[in-house]
Amino acid sequence: MNLVLMGLPGAGKGTQAEKIVEKYNIPHISTGDMFRAAIKDGTELGLKAKSFMDQGALVPDEVTIGIVRERLSKPDCEKGFLLDGFPRTVAQAEALEGIMTEFGKSIDYVINVEVDKEILMARLTGRRICKECGATYHLVFNPPAAEDKCDRCGGDLYQRADDNEETVQNRLDVNLKQTQPLLDFYQQKGYLRNVNGQQEIQEVFQDIDELLKGLN
Ligand code: AMP
Repeated sequence: MNLVLMGLPGAGKGTQAEKIVEKYNIPHISTGDMFRAAIKDGTELGLKAKSFMDQGALVPDEVTIGIVRERLSKPDCEKGFLLDGFPRTVAQAEALEGIMTEFGKSIDYVINVEVDKEILMARLTGRRICKECGATYHLVFNPPAAEDKCDRCGGDLYQRADDNEETVQNRLDVNLKQTQPLLDFYQQKGYLRNVNGQQEIQEVFQDIDELLKGLN
């Protein structure tokens, strides 16, 4: 089960990704998470990525494609994987096609979680993430039981530095410009499956699950 999960920032990709990888037991490969981990660890990759991320800009393709290729070559990806946040550009999508061919694989579905642009801003600025386990919450749509604490592990919740209004606006603009050609690319390939992201979290997952059941 080789999957790509798409959707503008705030569409609920992270939440659905957690549910998919838990049910189907495949690795969750999020380029955003990989970059954040590299920054936290102070690696060379982290240094390269930080200045772009702080501006809400994309990390250059040569850096991003390299880390994804390396990650997809790991044994835990043999039974499948869920890519989240990659590809973001047609150049990355084409590189992914090349990587798949090289590894004798192909993408099964590109799942696109659709949400109207107007509500994305509100969603994004309310997002909170657990410092300890990375679980995501939303102050309005998916609130934790206790404010500022993770339901799952009790860790402190924080707002990502790139979730402030100005950076969110820039991030949405970058994404909007990049996303349509990518959707067109995958529509033409026949991989694209649109899912209504404006339902309850569990309903969105049911729609995705229906699709994925057909792959097993
Ligand atoms: P995300 O967690 O997916 O919202 O990503 C956070 C930030 O990481 C983005 O704003 C980019 O700066 C960087 N990033 C994540 N994935 C990619 C990608 N596929 N290509 C370029 N930059 C990326």
